[in-house]
Amino acid sequence: VNSLSHSPTAAEIDLAAFSENISNLTKLLSKSSVLLAVVKTNAYGHGIVPISHEAVKCGAKRLGVTTVEEGVLLRENGIKVPIHILSSVTTEQAADIVTYELTASISTEQFAYVLSKEAVKQGRTTNCHLKIDTGLHRFGVAPEQALYFCEACCTLPGLKWEGIYTHFSCADDGDWITTEQQFALFMDTVMTLNKHGYHFPVRHVGGSTIAMERPDMHLDMVRAGVALFGHHPAPRQQNIISLKGVMKLKSKLIHVRELPPNTPIGYGGSYVTTSTEKIAVVPIGHGDGYKRAFSTKGEMLVGGQRAKIVGTISLDQTLINVTHIPGVREGDEVVLIGRQGDHEITTLEVAEWMDSIVDEVVSSLMERIRRVYI
Ligand code: PLP
Repeated sequence: VNSLSHSPTAAEIDLAAFSENISNLTKLLSKSSVLLAVVKTNAYGHGIVPISHEAVKCGAKRLGVTTVEEGVLLRENGIKVPIHILSSVTTEQAADIVTYELTASISTEQFAYVLSKEAVKQGRTTNCHLKIDTGLHRFGVAPEQALYFCEACCTLPGLKWEGIYTHFSCADDGDWITTEQQFALFMDTVMTLNKHGYHFPVRHVGGSTIAMERPDMHLDMVRAGVALFGHHPAPRQQNIISLKGVMKLKSKLIHVRELPPNTPIGYGGSYVTTSTEKIAVVPIGHGDGYKRAFSTKGEMLVGGQRAKIVGTISLDQTLINVTHIPGVREGDEVVLIGRQGDHEITTLEVAEWMDSIVDEVVSSLMERIRRVYI
């Protein structure tokens, strides 16, 4: 963070906190269930390669990503455990799935045929997990089509049907009626397929919320993401498991000056000083994923105190009012997410500034923000 050759804006990633979260979450899993660590979207902004190595070191048996590119990146960086592509991808990407020994999600016959052909061509076997759509309606085979699907696809050469899964639509909201219906639909589908001789050793249905709240739905594997980074998908879960925030977002004041009363500040002059005010510049903006929506509600920590964002956040800079902070100077540390002195700005608070969830805050942070692993 102190290097002169870098922007002072950096996300400090606490690998010890990450590993503690994994170990606490793993303790909640039922005996038969293993952890797949979801590291999609650049590990929710925490840096996919270092986080994946740490996850495997801490006992994650498998990893989950969204894109083939993420899977290939992990293979090229020496990750050996199964890597699941937790999304449908285009048929053009089938070759890379086979070559890099990624585990595919299958929800269409067309994709199964293309993947099978590719696997045969390369002389390899590709692991597949059949995705069942129980109500999220993103993708997946409809439960009533599942048997027909298996009859058409489960004997295709080059494919190993290792797993079957679904993803719930309302578990984070605590809507257990809908979730239990979706779970029952999934289990009925699995039973029907079993009866007809189609067996899938790895059945899995949920993420962090299911890990924390529904041991009856752990089955053979749980795919946890956001909890590993220290965040409960819902506040009601805070007394089930304690989690540590993994990311601290920091910067430094690059400019501080006093402006007279009635000075408009920033684009459009949306903020006007009411007295002589000390305004400081922080080198982060919406080009870094520090959202423009924070302009009216956001705060940062300087000198152990809260300082309000003033004016409209621009692409690369944000202005804060530091009038009330004694002795503030250029070069002072600024904390955007995390603790400084007695104060803390949590990722959840930042999410609330834009009426969103923590996932969006951390995964929005662009690559140009350095990740520093501590
Ligand atoms: N499984 C799938 C298919 C997902 O899409 C996601 C994330 O959205 C997860 C698991 C992880 O969910 P969470 O971050 O709530 O643990």
